[in-house]
Amino acid sequence: MNKGLLSVDEALVQLLAGAAPVCGIEDVPALEASGRILARAQRSTMDVPPMDNSSMDGYAVRSTDGNSKLRVSQKIMAGSVGKPLEPGTAARIFTGAPMPPGADAVVIQEETQVEGELVSLKKKARPGDWVRYVGSDIRRDSEILPAGKRLLPQDTGLAASVGIKTLPVFRRVRLGLFFTGDELVMPGEPLAPGRIYNSNRFTLRGLAQAFDCEVRDYGIVPDSLEATREVLRRAAHECDLVVTSGGVSVGDADYVKPAVEAEGRLLMWRIAMKPGRPLAFGRIGNAAFIGLPGNPVSSFVTFLIFVRPFLLRTQGLQHVEPKAIAARADFDWLEPDARQEFLRAKWNAQGGLELYPTQDSAVLTSTAWADGLIDNPAAHAIRRGETVRFLPYAELLS
Ligand code: AMP
Ligand code: MG
Repeated sequence: MNKGLLSVDEALVQLLAGAAPVCGIEDVPALEASGRILARAQRSTMDVPPMDNSSMDGYAVRSTDGNSKLRVSQKIMAGSVGKPLEPGTAARIFTGAPMPPGADAVVIQEETQVEGELVSLKKKARPGDWVRYVGSDIRRDSEILPAGKRLLPQDTGLAASVGIKTLPVFRRVRLGLFFTGDELVMPGEPLAPGRIYNSNRFTLRGLAQAFDCEVRDYGIVPDSLEATREVLRRAAHECDLVVTSGGVSVGDADYVKPAVEAEGRLLMWRIAMKPGRPLAFGRIGNAAFIGLPGNPVSSFVTFLIFVRPFLLRTQGLQHVEPKAIAARADFDWLEPDARQEFLRAKWNAQGGLELYPTQDSAVLTSTAWADGLIDNPAAHAIRRGETVRFLPYAELLS
């Protein structure tokens, strides 16, 4: 049934073998590094916290003083430094303030009673109570961030917490996009009979941006070999990766394949998946090329399944396989395709998955309605209650 077709896994292996990380590394302010890929591991040159400090508002004490009444000898706010604590006294202390020398515990204010200059402790303090020790979060010289990680906002905060001001990141991948089809018009233009809106431009550009690419959008390219070759040449010259939509079937108006063959090399062609059978992978000069099918659902799904991992590798990430969730199917899918399917599905209130009623690759509504894709093996019928492999959008978009 799948004669002459490549499986998704085979295609991925071939595709990823051709992906190399971009070489350029740039130093960017840590304040602007969120979303970028860290090029070199970062170590801390200091202990965090840098000093023993109180984790609560209360009184710093010597635990050996027991729960006697103590004279309040000083007040230590975050940002200031106290004096050594004499036996029989307590220091009023606030969250984050350094422990005064001699004190070894904090009694939280809820467990004290204040009478003028004196504070009595309702409970005996044990050494270490409510104290954050120097280096208890981060030890000096330890690695805080590994190379090849996409920086989350909290990663940049972590870097800042050890005083790092700039971070070395891989330069952004330049991703070129163009959209083939004489039928395409942009929203805002009149829709003549037979024309359709170029929805893929919105979907694919948004996806490229979600992965923090530097997008070069070459717009709509008419269905002609010359026009396709010309844009392909220009895009390949200016970009690391060129992604196109449409024109990769074998119809009369499909010029992407011959254009790539004329300008570079075309490495593979038909994939045993639904949606998205026609997919082209190639190389033009230094740029990689991935030609997605024109059907809106197909181009969306093939971007997530193929362009995503390729792009992540190009960006400098090692682990590119999406983490799937084992989820319960609350539906029957009794007429599976002979090819591996990616079904648009959504969580229901019972924690199971529902299927969008139409799985046609032209119905873009399904992609907007869904929470992710069920990865269904070739020719596999799904019965209600069965466990399926679910790829949530949240995972596919990171
Ligand atoms: P193609 O792969 O060029 O044969 O296109 C397959 C189907 O997808 C056709 O119905 C096209 O009209 C449609 N299509 C192609 N490109 C786009 C696009 N950019 N936006 C929306 N639909 C498209
Ligand atoms: Mg077309």
